[in-house]
Amino acid sequence: MSLHFWLLGEGIAESPSPAMQNAALAAAGIDGEYRLYECPPEELAGALAALRRGEADGANVTIPHKRSAASACDRLEGDALRLGAVNTLAVEAGLLVGVNTDAHGLEAALVEEGVAPLSGPAVVLGAGGAAAAAVLGLLRSGSSTVTVGARRRQQAMDLARRFDATHVSALSLDDPVLAGRLAAAAVVLNATPVGCAELPVDPDRLRPDATIVDLRYRPRPVDLVAAARASGRRGVDGAGMLLHQGMQAFERWTRHAAPIEAARHALRVALDASA
Ligand code: NAP
Repeated sequence: MSLHFWLLGEGIAESPSPAMQNAALAAAGIDGEYRLYECPPEELAGALAALRRGEADGANVTIPHKRSAASACDRLEGDALRLGAVNTLAVEAGLLVGVNTDAHGLEAALVEEGVAPLSGPAVVLGAGGAAAAAVLGLLRSGSSTVTVGARRRQQAMDLARRFDATHVSALSLDDPVLAGRLAAAAVVLNATPVGCAELPVDPDRLRPDATIVDLRYRPRPVDLVAAARASGRRGVDGAGMLLHQGMQAFERWTRHAAPIEAARHALRVALDASA
């Protein structure tokens, strides 16, 4: 019996996830297909009902549905409970189970890059869904504290409230205190969709041993990562996180060990083709 998986999101035509997931299915010898399901917000409820009826065996969820899909789940597991957002859906006995593999994806990528275990303070720029997962992933990887900087301070405060106040604080991007936090940070992580030109980050003003992580993986090279490397700092883009969040979802759906190298290769080819 062929398995079916969807990526539910809006504006997802360029997503590299089908290339990565279909390569993983093929390498694992699983008869199945992962496809895009372009889904505006008013169609999400219908898509989730179809999933519950068994029209697909699982799904990934991306912008703008991560929170609304979590609210529609029958059960949330693990990080999804903490974050109130899902990026992966599984169907079990007709129940919709919500999972969030983004923090795991970041943690696995940092280990693979030789950056984790971390120590010292971190700064996360942005306060959306990926930023929340990043805060969780950084704390679990060893960061002592995380400052969340966002252009809307209220959004940063809402994110910080999900965590222990002794470890996570919130500032607005134009707060002068942020410059000091950036200068002291062991890790600076960009969780916004914008780069160097629009963010208050100059790699030359960071610690010489600082690592800059940018969750973006396109266009390549990611400008902030290139700027970090040009200044002698370490730079890590979002491709590793994308790979590992996707492969944890694969394992959740298929109960099969993820063929990481086949997926990594397919992802690299897809990203190079669209660079
Ligand atoms: P999101 O929920 O829409 O959050 C985006 C955040 O960036 C918000 O805080 C937003 O603030 C802020 N922002 C947007 N434009 C900005 C600007 N010009 N200046 C300053 N801040 C700005 O999106 P998300 O899901 O968190 O995704 C964020 C990034 O992470 C995207 O580039 C996405 O592709 C990437 N991502 C990567 C992975 C991976 O596996 N590598 C996984 C998830 C996401 P406002 O709300 O004020 O606009």
